[in-house]
Amino acid sequence: MAYEHIIDDERCKGCELCVTVCPKKVLELSDEANTMGYFPVKQVRPEDCVFCTTCCIMCPDVAITVNKIVEDTAEQK
Ligand code: SF4
Ligand code: SF4
Repeated sequence: MAYEHIIDDERCKGCELCVTVCPKKVLELSDEANTMGYFPVKQVRPEDCVFCTTCCIMCPDVAITVNKIVEDTAEQK
């Protein structure tokens, strides 16, 4: 089973809650502002993400989601 981690730059207010709670230090603030003037979080070490969903749960703006990816129809159940 594979997962994908998605950050919605325009919803993020750069509060850094997710940065603080990530057990793998995957996240940091970007140095490019979004259209609201906030610096959204980005995955600087995506290869370290364990898809624990802690960041999604903590984000007050629902800016992060983790989706399950169906890779192969033979694996669907
Ligand atoms: S899913 Fe878990 S490991 Fe991945 S960025 Fe979020 S808190 Fe960190
Ligand atoms: S917790 Fe949400 S709003 Fe705060 S920095 Fe992380 S993604 Fe952005």
